[in-house]
Amino acid sequence: MSAKGIYDDTPVDSIPAKHEQAYQTFLAGKTRDIAWRKRQIKQLGFLIQDNEDKFVKALEADFGRPAFETITGEINPAKQEINEVYDHLDKWSKPVRVKTTFAWKGVKPTVYQEPKGVVLVIGTWNYPITLLLIPLLGAIAAGCTALVKPAEQAPHTARLITDLLPVYLDSSAFIPVLGAIDQATALLKLKFDHIFYTGSGGIAKIIARAAAEHLTPLTLELGGKSPAVVFDDANIDVIARRIMWAKYTNAGQICISVDYVLVTPETEPKLIAAMQRALKSFSDDPSSAAANGALTANTNYARVINERHYGRLGKLLDSTKGDIAFGGKRDDKERKIEVTVVRNVKGDDALMSEEIFGPILPVVTLPNKDAMIRFIQERETPLALYVFTQNDKNAQYIRERTRSGGFVHNDVLVHFMIPGLPFGGTGAAGYGNYHGKRTFDTFSHERASASIPTWMDAILASRYPPYTSAKLKR
Ligand code: NAD
Repeated sequence: MSAKGIYDDTPVDSIPAKHEQAYQTFLAGKTRDIAWRKRQIKQLGFLIQDNEDKFVKALEADFGRPAFETITGEINPAKQEINEVYDHLDKWSKPVRVKTTFAWKGVKPTVYQEPKGVVLVIGTWNYPITLLLIPLLGAIAAGCTALVKPAEQAPHTARLITDLLPVYLDSSAFIPVLGAIDQATALLKLKFDHIFYTGSGGIAKIIARAAAEHLTPLTLELGGKSPAVVFDDANIDVIARRIMWAKYTNAGQICISVDYVLVTPETEPKLIAAMQRALKSFSDDPSSAAANGALTANTNYARVINERHYGRLGKLLDSTKGDIAFGGKRDDKERKIEVTVVRNVKGDDALMSEEIFGPILPVVTLPNKDAMIRFIQERETPLALYVFTQNDKNAQYIRERTRSGGFVHNDVLVHFMIPGLPFGGTGAAGYGNYHGKRTFDTFSHERASASIPTWMDAILASRYPPYTSAKLKR
């Protein structure tokens, strides 16, 4: 889908003035007022609530995402985050008097939660509401002003957000920029006080280089190949359904989807058969022959976002040396690919060469848990790691010997929406995190403050020159 005809890009030469506007608004101080921030947060909530249907339609137009997935996967999590931040902002934004040693008690050592300043949020297309608006929520809560760039790959949603922002929020403080590389490049020349980027690791390097010019701190929410380790004792029917859900929902275009499965040769046939049954059960009509991957006719199954990703996924399927266990059909016109499970995949297969980010699931067999751990350790640190076993000790064994942004035992995706858990990567999956209070913290600076009474010079006098050995002994 091209943005052509859906919106006009923001002219590149207008971007510095937008930045200046956000900067002047920040300097003028209106964002410091907590009551003002809370009004803006409330408005952000209304922006989503009042326009639920429009968001559903925009996502349908962008990549055929079913309404159910937009409501449960974006609208509801966004509302949850907004409510949590709104409810706690008074508490989080309060200065904190720190405990100190007896000698410094009288100096009122205090940490103030201060806004970083003018921030840039660059979103991506697969969850184009939450991945843009939750970071924006953090910027508002912390008292920052922000420029926000929605992802051009989901143009209907980008346009909708850009139309709605000035209607609901203070347009001198929160300013959208529509466009692609030219606009992103123009934005990155400007000095921001924080950049929050969600997207691929390759582009993240461009962002990080540009940010380095201004020593701008970054949050990088990237992706990677997230493995699922399946033990022989796993509850196969339940976990097969969970794994298939991670590949079906949003057509597997999820940064924390299961990217590949590690399983022993004994359990592999049982798992594959159970995954096929699970996928059939997702159909409105499980008895029909077409119930497998839910292609053209199924409006409950999303398309691949664009020709580039569709072509990339097709090429991966064409190049694999593994065997298709089920699925594999493609519909070029609809840009849909059946949920496809590929067995007998080796570590050097095309399917293991990059993050899949689509409805294809390679299954790799390995003899035991230690071989699985080595397989994971030899690769870049993933954004998520899933372990399926009925034995907590097995889960702990894997957790203690691997690294990943998040770790879930016996389920998929859920850590994104469990209140209290941070969401973010490590290593190649990015750095920084957010959700809940951390969304506020991301855009805040902990300003250390102390107030030293002049009478204390009676005690401090020894620090002044002349430096005598007698003073050192005191
Ligand atoms: P992408 O990285 O190409 O695009 C994301 C954003 O980067 C867009 O707004 C785009 O305009 C901007 N951009 C593109 N080229 C640019 C350039 N040269 N300079 C500056 N900005 C530029 O998107 P993609 O690769 O299709 O996204 C998929 C990736 O995003 C996957 O790796 C996925 O795992 C990751 N992802 C991560 C999360 C997370 O929360 N960790 C969420 C969703 C997706």
